Amino acid sequence: MTLETDTELKELIRKTALLNAVKHDGRAQVGPVVGKILGGKPEYRDKAKELSTLISTIIKEVNRLSPDKQKSIVAEKWPELLAKEKTQEEKHLPPLPNVDRYQKVVTRFSPNPDCVLHLGSARAIVLCYDYAKMYKGRFILRFEDTDPKIKRPVLEFYDRIREDLAWLECKPDAEYIQSDRLPIYYDHAEKLIKDGNAYICTCDPELFRKLVLEQKPCPCRGCPPKEHLARWRRMLEGEYSEGEAVVRVKTDLNHPNPAVRDWPAMRVIDSEKYPHPRVGTKYNAWPLYNLACGVDDHLLGITHIIRGKEHLTNQVRQEFMYRHLGWTYPEAIHYGRLKITGAYLSKSKIVQGVREGHFNGWDDPRLATFAALRRRGITPEAIKKMIIDVGPKTSDVILSWENLYAYNRKILDPIVNRYFFVQNPLELTVRNIPETFEVRLNLHPDHPERGTRNYTIRPEGDERSAVFWVSGKDVDPSRNGQTMRLMELFNMKIETASTYAAEASFVSESYEDAKSAKASLIHWIPVGKDMPCNVVMPDATTIEGIAEDACRKLSPDTVVQFERFGFVKIDGLNTKLTVYYTQK
Ligand SMILES: [Zn+2]
Repeated sequence: MTLETDTELKELIRKTALLNAVKHDGRAQVGPVVGKILGGKPEYRDKAKELSTLISTIIKEVNRLSPDKQKSIVAEKWPELLAKEKTQEEKHLPPLPNVDRYQKVVTRFSPNPDCVLHLGSARAIVLCYDYAKMYKGRFILRFEDTDPKIKRPVLEFYDRIREDLAWLECKPDAEYIQSDRLPIYYDHAEKLIKDGNAYICTCDPELFRKLVLEQKPCPCRGCPPKEHLARWRRMLEGEYSEGEAVVRVKTDLNHPNPAVRDWPAMRVIDSEKYPHPRVGTKYNAWPLYNLACGVDDHLLGITHIIRGKEHLTNQVRQEFMYRHLGWTYPEAIHYGRLKITGAYLSKSKIVQGVREGHFNGWDDPRLATFAALRRRGITPEAIKKMIIDVGPKTSDVILSWENLYAYNRKILDPIVNRYFFVQNPLELTVRNIPETFEVRLNLHPDHPERGTRNYTIRPEGDERSAVFWVSGKDVDPSRNGQTMRLMELFNMKIETASTYAAEASFVSESYEDAKSAKASLIHWIPVGKDMPCNVVMPDATTIEGIAEDACRKLSPDTVVQFERFGFVKIDGLNTKLTVYYTQK
């Protein structure tokens, strides 16, 4: 029995193809269907070639149906499969712990404005924002800018971060800037000192480290609070130089992790040498991360801290301070690391690369900054969906650009319009065209209501010829003698082809002819109905080519699909069209 006559197999393929089509916006893909069939019926492995031909034929039939028709067939014949797909589709975040203990859920995203935001921050932002919305709570943006020396904040980045959050549709309900709040940190440091729960250590840092590793107090620790309050005054008045005095919060000196023992809460920074971009030389005593963060989380009423598990030790440190102050530590959720292979995520390298001109700005396509993703046409919805699907789990997750592209493709494919773009353009003259062709190319094959691009192909001269741009990737000397189809137009036979030009003769109009001749379908642009187009690729190289002149009507920031090439976002439009390549 040949596969062709195996009705049971054909029905199984049809079912698999329909389901695959429903999953992929109406277009079933050959690869996954072949894989599924062979997975279930390994006995067909030695007939793989025959099988995939059969599958391709059935997929073409299935893809010819409208997405609604495909869905209604599946719903009618295999309703249980559709239900299963649906539950897999809609992923929600798992509930937060102990929500009923709080009046309102409050979360925070707290970046240091020392760089623009990139994909590495997406998890913190999206989880904090979505959880706040899920419980009708509040999402707070807090700039953690209290290190004017090493992780120096830069004014430009405060605004860029605000812009990035707005683009991600994660707008905060309130915003705080830590450099505005120094008096608050001073008050709390002073209270800790007064109560004997913190002290000013003036030891040599090396000596302190040695003692703490031996679980021994330094000579300062046992002095009375009165002495420390005096040192505190001197610290505020600028009488200590950098490194001469550190406020330390008392912890258990026997804590198994030496990094927790009497952690540093405040230090001196030479403000003349390292002025803060917002408050200048106003302060010499600056809070360190755990003091500022811990005090703010309490005072701003944060109920759920959602952050990476690299902060686990910080929680242990801060819990000592919370006990000293009689506070209760918020709920804390620590998620695992999210690595994105191939994405450039080192903040210091990004800043350095841009400053030195190695990258063309914060939105250089080689970067994984939100600015770059935005310029390229990656949608915020795709980023959010990917993060929600990963959720807040504690295990490490490795994603790739391909994962992000898959989410983005699903969003873009049904909504963006399609145009022809010819890479490595080559002039193709087709002779013996019997009549004038009026072509209407749908802006989207599934949405004829969106309209068409219209071209009149009128044969000219004795030879009844017309001239097209086609891609040198499609037509080259190896194609001599082959029949090819200009998509949606007619079939032609290549007579001579070189690197710059090709000649062909008209064969027939019918699509069926092209199918039976197994002709390749190639895209084309009539010469004269064109415009030059530069495509900026993700590696920052530029591909030059020709786009349909219908693209002239597109407004900047529109994403379109160049057929058989990929998705692109319109960047600039004057005599030349400039687009950024989004993805395949
Ligand atoms: Zn000391």
